[in-house]
Amino acid sequence: MKTDIEIAQESVMMPIKEVAESYGISEDDLELYGKYKTKLTDDLWKKVKDKKDGRLVLVTAINPTPAGEGKTTTSIGLADALTRLGYKTMIALREPSLGPCFGIKGGAAGGGYAQVVPMEDLNLHFTGDFHAITSANNLLAALLDNHIQQGNALGIDTRQILWKRCLDMNDRVLRNIVVGLGAKADGVVREDHFVITVASEIMAILCLANDMKDLKERLGKIIVAYNYAGEPVTAKDLNAVGAMAALLKDAIKPNMIQTLEHTGALVHGGPFANIAHGCNSVRATKTALKLADITITEAGFGADLGAEKFFDIKCRMADLKPDAVVLVATVRALKYNGGVPKTDLAEENLDALKKGIVNLEKHIENIQKFGVPVVVTLNSFVTDTEAEYEFIRTFCERRGCEFALSEVWAKGGEGGQALAEKVLKTLEYKESNYHPLYPDDMSLKNKIETIAGEIYGADGVTYAPAAQKALAQIEQMGFGNFPICMAKTQYSLSDDQKKLGRPTGFKINVRDAYVSAGAGFVVVLTGAIMTMPGLPKKPAADGIDVTDDGVITGLF
Ligand code: ADP
Ligand code: MG
Repeated sequence: MKTDIEIAQESVMMPIKEVAESYGISEDDLELYGKYKTKLTDDLWKKVKDKKDGRLVLVTAINPTPAGEGKTTTSIGLADALTRLGYKTMIALREPSLGPCFGIKGGAAGGGYAQVVPMEDLNLHFTGDFHAITSANNLLAALLDNHIQQGNALGIDTRQILWKRCLDMNDRVLRNIVVGLGAKADGVVREDHFVITVASEIMAILCLANDMKDLKERLGKIIVAYNYAGEPVTAKDLNAVGAMAALLKDAIKPNMIQTLEHTGALVHGGPFANIAHGCNSVRATKTALKLADITITEAGFGADLGAEKFFDIKCRMADLKPDAVVLVATVRALKYNGGVPKTDLAEENLDALKKGIVNLEKHIENIQKFGVPVVVTLNSFVTDTEAEYEFIRTFCERRGCEFALSEVWAKGGEGGQALAEKVLKTLEYKESNYHPLYPDDMSLKNKIETIAGEIYGADGVTYAPAAQKALAQIEQMGFGNFPICMAKTQYSLSDDQKKLGRPTGFKINVRDAYVSAGAGFVVVLTGAIMTMPGLPKKPAADGIDVTDDGVITGLF
């Protein structure tokens, strides 16, 4: 069997300006990065912004196995299938982070015959957006430390600095460090921390900003520290906004590449799916909606986190109206949810499937709570059996839920035709009455309890003293109307990754909370969340190389 990179490198790409032309974009509106990558100009947005929006389809998944269940692969294959059926379709996806690229093997450009290309570029530096975000983040850190060094006119309490430096790398030794060692001229000594670039608030801001004006307003609101009086100090107070925005002037423009079958893909922004909302940029999604009749987009993690944040954060803030949801399930994840260990997932096991399918059932019910029609798709693996398919198909059909088998990994767009037809049928006949789960003016605790009760199926919420205090303070500071961004394990509907299937009789334990004032949400932490990952014992970097002719090998 060919690897993803072999399939990608054998494909013949179309020049990206020809792909753009097929969506009515002229070369004048492209900022080309070589022959196969481009950014879309502000002028293009001005030209298309008053056009009618196309239809918006979200791809999400049940609670996954640690290997991922194929949301990106399904998004790409579905879009290719719709293109084959003659619909002008575009994909809006996140850009991958370098961290996981060199860490645990696993791509972010789809897989098999459903990929976006050039996959090496996308997985490595791409158009430099993440480097720009890293620079803007670290400029703010440098300005903050310099302000303290130069007399600290704002009275910043060095014990209450929130802003962290960042790097797009899995590098655990940078989690907790000391800066400012040396002589008087070398700065004020303090404890500092690094996060991975995708966990920077600037990433979330870039993805939620409508335009440059909105970006600057949001950057200005970032809370970097508290002063000795306990009041927030913002990026605006440090006069950092203009210079940060200057570094981000190109990064806010959406990037366009293509699938193996030449469907256009806007791949832009990549916020963490735990401490941020895990969706590509609002700019890219809105642009795709103007350029295509159908836009396929993805949200990170399972539907309890990804879809919930897509609806309650992204769609709420950007005024998007999703028309349908594709819920990806796999036989292996259903068996995993039925209690089968990771090592035995390849064997037929109808009993485990019966036990695990309650997870799918809960996610179907959850999506219906947002008023959006759902199509279930089974991402087919070579190890699946006919009996397992039949069981899942019958289960879905009995619940009045559209169901299709997807074979896009093995067959590309051709393997997605059945799914595409169900999606088209849903768009045509089933009305979407999208609404967020809770109103803006509900208290923060009520919002958390609504998500925990309605989406996770919890009996209630417990709050650690730190969380009680933080939530009260956030409301006092005037951020009580923000939506909630839950940070929770993706492996369970509960906050305990060992509780699989459809757990009942549990509480959600809120450990702490903080406000991302620029992004515009309140992050609620359940359990320990890693914002600077480490590398595994045998990192994927071990197998990556480049030939004397400049061809990259071993990347997935
Ligand atoms: P997600 O977006 O849900 O995290 P991806 O689409 O990135 O998942 O897929 C995760 C990994 O699984 C990728 O390496 C991909 O190549 C692989 N994969 C996806 N679908 C299949 C399939 N049907 N058969 C085999 N491998 C698959
Ligand atoms: Mg993905």
